[in-house]
Amino acid sequence: MVDLKGQYNDIKDIVNPSIQEVIENTAFINGPKVHEFQGNLESYLHVKHVIPCANGTDALQIAMMGLGLKPGDEVITADFTFAATVEVIALLQLTPVLVDVNEDDFNINIEAIKKAITPKTKAIVPVHLFGQCADMESIMEIAKKHNLFVIEDNAQAIGANYTYTNGTKVKAGTIGNVGATSFFPSKNLGCYGDGGAIFTNDDDLAHTIRGIVNHGMYERYHHDVVGVNSRLDSIQAVVLDTKLPRLDDYNTARQEAARKYNKAFEGIDKIITPKTVSRSCNDICDTCDCHVFHQYTLRVKLIDRDGLVKHLNENGIPCGVYYPIPLHKQKAYLDERYNESDFKVTNKLVKDVISLPMHTELDDEQIEFITSTIIKFINE
Ligand SMILES: *Cc1c(COP(=O)(O)O)cnc(C)c1O
Repeated sequence: MVDLKGQYNDIKDIVNPSIQEVIENTAFINGPKVHEFQGNLESYLHVKHVIPCANGTDALQIAMMGLGLKPGDEVITADFTFAATVEVIALLQLTPVLVDVNEDDFNINIEAIKKAITPKTKAIVPVHLFGQCADMESIMEIAKKHNLFVIEDNAQAIGANYTYTNGTKVKAGTIGNVGATSFFPSKNLGCYGDGGAIFTNDDDLAHTIRGIVNHGMYERYHHDVVGVNSRLDSIQAVVLDTKLPRLDDYNTARQEAARKYNKAFEGIDKIITPKTVSRSCNDICDTCDCHVFHQYTLRVKLIDRDGLVKHLNENGIPCGVYYPIPLHKQKAYLDERYNESDFKVTNKLVKDVISLPMHTELDDEQIEFITSTIIKFINE
């Protein structure tokens, strides 16, 4: 699905000596390299505060802790996402409220959010799924009206632009009260182990969060709040700092690959190619930078999806089904208040989505092999 080796070979001459330097200096934890990366990411994102941490799941949890959410508070999030999003809500004894998503961009549905709001609702967690932003303008409007926090799960969309209706662009993850991301190796900006970060423009929240990631300490050995231990280490920071200036190029390479896939599947009515829904032009647009294709996800119609998965695997082509089970049907997150009729889209998507290899090193020959193998299967 991803070619981490090819990308590594490209930056090997830069990244190897920087890792060596960290080892020589032995500043493995809280070293200057972490601080440098933090500053560079703040500049890239145009956000006031980046707080690095150990992984994306921690980032989400710490963001929620920082906002002071309390047991019993309801938090609305998408039914169609990776489990980490709902997991941390449940871990903090908040009440997850899963809602349906859109057919076009697979992101949280605005009407479903509105319907799910109760007096106990305290936050919305939009997930920018597969590399494309949720409808943040509408979400911020709802949040303002009902006095809710917005926590963006930006694990899959780092570097994506969100375009407002008036044309202004901002980076994904910097719009809500707080954003969380993951630097897991296969993410668009991935390190060589685990890593994550929290973003915010709120000075007080940033201060609170900096204490939480460090055992609730604001002054050495004074533990004012219950915190956690969640750190990005210096080796991961230098890897990320090497890749950050290349992130836009990496994302452009993904967009280019997506365009080639789209073109190859043109006119094949059993395949629905992923849509880039640009809020600014309110249309489907093929050239904007709003989608950074963490995944290239097709929907297949009237085809045996699982047969196609098997066929691709037999031909040595990796593929993935993200996600095969809606979260509301996962044993850990069952809730008798849910109605199947409220999850019409997720229930459909889990049956017909398939994600193809997507990374920065895909070449024309690979794309041609992948697409022709799929088209052959459909025509058989
Ligand atoms: C990867 C991912 C996470 C969790 O990130 P980790 O670094 O693996 O903990 C959270 N949310 C989404 C949507 C993800 O894709």
